[in-house]
Amino acid sequence: MDEKERIDCLFETGELPLSEYAPLIDERSKEASEYLFEKARIRQEENFGKRVFLRGIIEFSNFCRCDCLYCGIRKSNAHAERYHLTKDEILSCARQGYGFGFRTVVLQSGEDLSYTDEMICDIVSSIRAQMPDMTVTLSIGEKDRASYERYFDAGADRYLLRHESASPDLYAKLHPAAQTLENRIRCLYDLKDIGYQVGAGMMLETPYQKTEDLVEDLLFLRQLRPEMIGIGPFIPHKDTPFRGEKEGSTDLCLFMIGVLRLMFPKALIPATTALGTVNPLGREKGILAGGNVIMPNLSPKRVRGKYLLYDGKICTGEDASQCQGCIRGRMKRIGYEVDPGRGDYPGWVRRERT
Ligand code: SAH
Repeated sequence: MDEKERIDCLFETGELPLSEYAPLIDERSKEASEYLFEKARIRQEENFGKRVFLRGIIEFSNFCRCDCLYCGIRKSNAHAERYHLTKDEILSCARQGYGFGFRTVVLQSGEDLSYTDEMICDIVSSIRAQMPDMTVTLSIGEKDRASYERYFDAGADRYLLRHESASPDLYAKLHPAAQTLENRIRCLYDLKDIGYQVGAGMMLETPYQKTEDLVEDLLFLRQLRPEMIGIGPFIPHKDTPFRGEKEGSTDLCLFMIGVLRLMFPKALIPATTALGTVNPLGREKGILAGGNVIMPNLSPKRVRGKYLLYDGKICTGEDASQCQGCIRGRMKRIGYEVDPGRGDYPGWVRRERT
């Protein structure tokens, strides 16, 4: 197949013959990329119109028991200034987001065991009690199934847990031996089975990553069928073993967003902060490549500069109001309307567990 045939095939069928994924990625030209983005926008508009969903993200703790080699808040980074927010602080951020019209909050943190399951459930159910039409997304890492069930019963509807890499060899080069791909995948299938809308995804252009690894990621996603897919370029952090490594490119990230849109027409795909960090117009370009979600930051200004997964992270000097105003302006300028509503995966309904 030539470049255009591959994209046509993806557009029409949502998949490719196995041997065509690697050349699709490797041989991408500027023209083919533009062609892909046009097709991706067709799928995006069919399913969502010219709309971008907003999710307010509250980064409530940067304590972490994990030691991912790429991440600035890894346990062994002694230079990270650690913080965690109280329940009242988290609720006040959520209320502020509610005031902006947001009907989704994402509660994200490192794996901070000082928050017990009871505390997480209390925070989730308090948000739901005070703002009944607010959707709560959790992104707090690997837990056992029973914990995921409790959060769901407390009212959480979505869970973000990137698989980071579906290739066992690469996964092992990015994480200490105690953190296994097997457990990460177990978590994702548990979350699916419980009834969450599940978000997976990978970083692009990490050290050691090859095209075959990306192909494995696409095939894994095809099996999992997540409702949300978050991808972004790897960006080095100065206090990690990957300091001095090269950051990922805007081009590959945009291309992969386009590919994901054709493979998963109804998925919620963010134009991520990491993409906005490697390129000043990254988030706009991400939407024009097929993305349909943006996550303005709702964290209190005093802690923003501390949730540093990588160097140079944008939006750390602004407050929540400026951040959402900026995003709205950026989307308007490219002709998209922001939709602060729930923005569920089309057709998803919450099924209560018995
Ligand atoms: N503890 C939660 C949240 C992790 S931080 C969890 O395990 O899900 C959210 C995401 O940031 C990670 O999943 C990872 O893909 C991304 N990330 C971490 N370090 C990064 C880096 N150096 N460059 C780019 N993205 C990074």
